[in-house]
Amino acid sequence: MAIIMDVEPIKEELTQLLSYGGAPEDEFDKGYNLGIERALELIDAAPTVEQPKGKWINIETSVNGYDGQAECNLCGCIVHNNFSKAVNFCPNCGAKMKGGEET
Ligand SMILES: [Zn+2]
Repeated sequence: MAIIMDVEPIKEELTQLLSYGGAPEDEFDKGYNLGIERALELIDAAPTVEQPKGKWINIETSVNGYDGQAECNLCGCIVHNNFSKAVNFCPNCGAKMKGGEET
């Protein structure tokens, strides 16, 4: 199954791990770096797709202090409003969402 993820933080972390931030000092460091460099190559070589952009459609307004629900306009996934306000992507189709508006 393909997944959509932001790889930049992973690449940043891996790059910082190269030689623990310094030049390789021995064979262990060189092997360690080779593993990290290969991981970075695999990330760069992985197939990519453009992240779809969607918006949350409010389908149930707040009643008696309880938040309602929102639906992804692309796949129909229904989430709690608190989720739609806190997370900027659809958990089902991976569409990028922002503040309830199409981005
Ligand atoms: Zn969706």
